[in-house]
Amino acid sequence: MNSLVQGKPYFTNINTEFNQYKYLSKDASTEVLIIGGGVTGALISHYLTENKINCMLVEKSRIGHGSTSITTALLKYDLDDNLAYLNQYTSLENCIKSYKLGVKALSDLKDIISAQGNYCDYKATDSFLFTNKTIEEKEIFQEYQHRKNTGFDIQFIDTSSNPFEFDIKAGILSKEGGAVLDPFKFTHQLLSNAEKKGAKIYENTLINKIIYKENSVEAFTEFGHKITCKYIVCATGYDISLFTHKPYGTKLVTYNIVTSPIDNFDPQLKEVIVRDNCSPYNYLRMTSDNRVILGGEDEPYEQSIFNKAMAEKKYSILTERLKSLLPSIKDDIQIDFKLCGEFISTRDNLGFIGRDGFHKNLYYCLGYGANGLIFSILGGQYLSKLLKNQDDPDMEIFNLNR
Ligand SMILES: Cc1cc2nc3c(=O)[nH]c(=O)nc-3n(C[C@H](O)[C@H](O)[C@H](O)COP(=O)(O)OP(=O)(O)OC[C@H]3O[C@@H](n4cnc5c(N)ncnc54)[C@H](O)[C@@H]3O)c2cc1C
Repeated sequence: MNSLVQGKPYFTNINTEFNQYKYLSKDASTEVLIIGGGVTGALISHYLTENKINCMLVEKSRIGHGSTSITTALLKYDLDDNLAYLNQYTSLENCIKSYKLGVKALSDLKDIISAQGNYCDYKATDSFLFTNKTIEEKEIFQEYQHRKNTGFDIQFIDTSSNPFEFDIKAGILSKEGGAVLDPFKFTHQLLSNAEKKGAKIYENTLINKIIYKENSVEAFTEFGHKITCKYIVCATGYDISLFTHKPYGTKLVTYNIVTSPIDNFDPQLKEVIVRDNCSPYNYLRMTSDNRVILGGEDEPYEQSIFNKAMAEKKYSILTERLKSLLPSIKDDIQIDFKLCGEFISTRDNLGFIGRDGFHKNLYYCLGYGANGLIFSILGGQYLSKLLKNQDDPDMEIFNLNR
């Protein structure tokens, strides 16, 4: 049973036509071997080929069917928790740096789409963080002040200026602070372009053994074929047992519901991604075919990943929550897809990107936390610099040893 994905993923169900790649049937060599064919591996292959670095990507199953198939794919510059909370685990300076890197990643994503074309239902949006609790008004206002004072283009929203039909007490609207896309199509778009630029891509190719040598690495497929490379990149998402047993974060299960296409929705909803300030939080986006995805309600992994009763309870909570957010169409809401899956959160909400402390030819790009896609964009750029012996001090916030 797949411990990453449960239920009926939306993106892999609606996309029925996509490239299929061969499996590796002989020994091979490359400069950089990327292990993992999700959105992270695809982004790394994009940036490596852009930088003319010879690379090969191998996926043990099918491209984009790991956590990439269930990600809500809502991209935003800010993190899951607010600055006041994050300050317990990292400095405010680091948080603001990550917000700024998030803004940059959103702009870099737009550049990828401008250069390649939009084959993944990409859309730039605003982003909106809100609370409907009086007791949290002050917290949201403080978050607003921190961000405003450090130069973010944001607007404070209160009950009197609320443009939405759901209740809010306080909110922060960030202009062009987000984006949405279809992560499965995006992964395929990136890989198809990377392949044209020379990347070799194989699916149904499991790596089950790695031998680190002084100046090279040998990776072996389950059928015994050897791939010799100079560097190896771990882009295996939440399963990194092939490389390390270090626990990089806390395993959770997160839940999503996807409605059937809705006709009479508030058009503003298509222009924004929404997150509430609850704990556990909920987040909402629309799709290109006018469905609403609502996610959240995270639970500890051990008790819930194979617990169907728990999942049904969570889907009911999400459905009721969605009705409360969209009261004018609550009677028209039909749920077409329910899904959940493994998710890893980190205390400072940041992923892990960089070079292994022990094996000098091993690099990681782990998009942990709810901003996994943003971190993988930054990770792809950073690794292509590191592999050319260039550093980027801003990326120190993602270091593996924190
Ligand atoms: C429900 C949910 C909602 C989320 N929502 C958001 C969101 O809105 N925004 C956001 O930015 N992030 C979100 N995330 C996080 C985001 O989904 C992840 O960061 C991202 O999908 C991870 O992609 P990946 O390529 O790293 O991992 P995966 O998609 O899991 O890809 C890793 C691949 O590696 C392969 N692999 C593993 N081991 C081997 C091996 N030994 N040999 C070969 N291949 C191997 C696997 O088969 C898999 O396909 C969400 C996550 C979940 C679960």
